[in-house]
Amino acid sequence: MSDAVTDTIPILLVPDARLRAKARAVGPADADQVRLLAPRMLDAMYKAPGIGLAAPQVGSGLRLVVIDLQRDEKPAPMVLVNPEILALSEELATREEGCLSLPGQYAEVTRPARVKVRYHDLTGSRQEVEADGLLATCLQHEIDHLDGVLFVDHISPLKRNMLLRKLAKELKSKARG
Ligand SMILES: [Zn+2]
Repeated sequence: MSDAVTDTIPILLVPDARLRAKARAVGPADADQVRLLAPRMLDAMYKAPGIGLAAPQVGSGLRLVVIDLQRDEKPAPMVLVNPEILALSEELATREEGCLSLPGQYAEVTRPARVKVRYHDLTGSRQEVEADGLLATCLQHEIDHLDGVLFVDHISPLKRNMLLRKLAKELKSKARG
């Protein structure tokens, strides 16, 4: 018998169509669902392990993101409800990205180097964060997920196809055991 509360929530993998859907804004009626989902998303992210996870990756259509860069081996979870990008720098930065929905696949992605994001926290308070470095990349990557965009959409079609073929092959051989 499984315990629905403590089971790790499964992370969807490409090419699951739910990863390509646009998520909808969290409204007051979603408060209970968000309070239950956010800790389960953090749990799945830590176990994976990863540094960010967006609700569409666990099959939820809500604009909800969890992030923890886990820099000092001390948990510092961020829960972002309805995150919105307010500003992006003109300066760009290139960083290797991966994604829990494309396990084992990495590519260099160029994005704005700095970002300003507004969101609500779990208590409903409005927050703003200005980030550079890894957090700036992570915020953009996760907010992309809410619009059905994956990091491979930011690389050349040639590299994207190579990476997606490699992923499909690896998942197939894994399924075969
Ligand atoms: Zn991702």
